Amino acid sequence: MDPVIALVGRPNVGKSTLFNQLTRSRDALVADHPGLTRDRQYGVGKVGERPYIVVDTGGLGDDPEGVEAGMRAQALAAIEEADAILFMVDGRTGATAADEELAAHLRRQGKPVWLVVNKTDGVDHRLATADFHALGLGEPLPIAAAHGRGVAGLMDRVLDELPEDFTSAHDELQVEEAEGATRIAIVGRPNVGKSTLVNRLLGEERVLVYDMPGTTRDSVFIPFERDDRPYTLIDTAGMRRRARVRETVEKFSVIQTLKAIEAAHVVILVIDAREGITDQDTHLIGHVLKSGRALVLAVNKWDGLNADKRQAVKTGLDRKLAFLNFARRHFISALHGSGVGLLFGAVDKALEAARRDLPTPILNEILSDAVAAHAPPLAQGRRIKLRYVHQGGKNPPVIVIHGNQVQKLPGAYKRYLENAFRDELDLYGTPVRLEFRSGE
Ligand code: GDP
Ligand code: GDP
Repeated sequence: MDPVIALVGRPNVGKSTLFNQLTRSRDALVADHPGLTRDRQYGVGKVGERPYIVVDTGGLGDDPEGVEAGMRAQALAAIEEADAILFMVDGRTGATAADEELAAHLRRQGKPVWLVVNKTDGVDHRLATADFHALGLGEPLPIAAAHGRGVAGLMDRVLDELPEDFTSAHDELQVEEAEGATRIAIVGRPNVGKSTLVNRLLGEERVLVYDMPGTTRDSVFIPFERDDRPYTLIDTAGMRRRARVRETVEKFSVIQTLKAIEAAHVVILVIDAREGITDQDTHLIGHVLKSGRALVLAVNKWDGLNADKRQAVKTGLDRKLAFLNFARRHFISALHGSGVGLLFGAVDKALEAARRDLPTPILNEILSDAVAAHAPPLAQGRRIKLRYVHQGGKNPPVIVIHGNQVQKLPGAYKRYLENAFRDELDLYGTPVRLEFRSGE
């Protein structure tokens, strides 16, 4: 499982600036999809081949009793869930009383902490960091988050010191998985019907469930077989069920969901047809999209809706999830079982599409047909030229297009191309990433 790194510090030290730096590459991938809400608190990033989850804890200020009390509780919970902490301070103000209080709290946690001194641009590093040795959290590490300076080095250092193939003590996953098992994560906000769906999927006639589920701190991993194919279900609602928690306000952990997504091959995202798409749904969808995982959309609680209501739900999905046109939608009732069996076929197809080889001659034919039907626009009086294309990766499929002035291609034209490749190659169920290389 990926390490969870929490950004902690007073307001205004630069946490959200660093958060943006650490999650930027992933965010750039969804920049062309209007309609997607960014989750400004949770993100996934990568240094080299090593992914990590970042949490911006917001501000932990000087006034624990005031309006910040709620924020403070959230930040403290995030520290609990984290595997490592980046404690940020402001190199321009020196250490404050609030810094000292936070440092004392972090020392008691016994988690790995890195002391990060931000805003060291244009100031002497030794002077800027001198004040912070006294916090007793090791060597102060200077960065300038706004300019990205020192950030890569910092993350190299942090990830180097966390164990390779990271599993935190509680995360030791002991589950016997069959070779080549497809891992399916069932995710969604509270009450959409995840638990009901898991029970229903495993209760299917043709499913052979092994009685050795594995558990992590966050999810239950359930290996099973259907039609001689091995799968592992990653059940994010399972821990709650096991603990028989009956809280009125559900504790919903985004971190848990992010980990399940990263561990999965295919995500089944469950949506409640009766509630429509909420902000929490679009945040989750954004995370799935960024992860590049194959995706099946299960629109649940389809039972008991009349024809008008069903049409309204479909129209709402088309409008709000236009950017998610690649995911197959299944209208199901987890409670009664209708549509549930079809999810297995959708999962298999999505994964097949994600892993498929895309032959270069066919890609080039699709590109030239698309360009002939709709030429790219002019940029500074010259036509943007798209010359040739090849596959750059799988799972998700990456399609690399070479040409001139390609960085000037508008988002709408990129979406047009993406849809052309998707339709011609029947690439449904998986996101597709277009990369553009300029030959100039
Ligand atoms: P947060 O409240 O801790 O999330 O802080 P923000 O990321 O919102 O940053 C607070 C202010 O500090 C903003 O005006 C940033 O532009 C500024 N800031 C952040 N990083 C740097 C930096 O590396 N150098 C300088 N000079 N300013 C920075
Ligand atoms: P979770 O929090 O996502 O795991 O959701 P649960 O599986 O606990 O379900 C939340 C509530 O929705 C429960 O009362 C379920 O009985 C109900 N529910 C789940 N699936 C369906 C469905 O397909 N139709 C209807 N009508 N109710 C459902």
